[in-house]
Amino acid sequence: GSFEKMDLKPDLLKGIYSYGFEAPSAIQSRAIMQIMSGKDTIAQAQSGTGKTATFSIGMLQVLDFKARQCQALVLSPTRELAVQIHTVIKNLGNYMNVHTHACIGGKQVGDDLKKLALGQQIVSGTPGRVLDVIKRRNLATRSVKMLVLDEADELMTKGFKEQIYDIYRQLPSSVQVVIVSATLTKEVLEMTSKFTTDPVKILV
Ligand code: AMP
Repeated sequence: GSFEKMDLKPDLLKGIYSYGFEAPSAIQSRAIMQIMSGKDTIAQAQSGTGKTATFSIGMLQVLDFKARQCQALVLSPTRELAVQIHTVIKNLGNYMNVHTHACIGGKQVGDDLKKLALGQQIVSGTPGRVLDVIKRRNLATRSVKMLVLDEADELMTKGFKEQIYDIYRQLPSSVQVVIVSATLTKEVLEMTSKFTTDPVKILV
């Protein structure tokens, strides 16, 4: 496969190549166009497969970067992962004027509130802090078009289940859901059946 065949925005393609990617990985070949088409997607994939760039590229292709509302939320089980994802999105979107923020626990919430007030189009965070800023009404959810749950099995076992469900309930019912998980545990499948409609399943 090739990134050129995916019909991506020229500035996104430029970001992908300048980040150093030459050709899509297996999951990227199979999932990016599905995500771009708006379909709910469940990908069974481990770290190292290129999963982060899969949903990041899909997201960068479909969001409207002229609008300053939050249009995508990415939830991860660790602060490190949330920051890594934010960095990948910034890099791939380097030529696109994308406003993204890593919203994680362990730092002053005031810093998040200042950044969010500027208008962040993509928020990558840990569930507790993201739910906190939503409840404080500093992160508006009405324009969120895409929800990504990364390492969903870890999200479920690390005790984030209730927070994830609470966040999901704040989102428009039309939200596109992308779930990435190394293993499809009972909790992940239960969440998939509650959050998705007729999802495309990809096994890498
Ligand atoms: P991930 O599975 O998201 O943790 O990514 C694993 C590693 O693969 C990261 O270091 C990425 O930068 C790298 N990577 C992802 N996609 C590609 C690609 N298409 N070409 C080269 N490297 C890639």
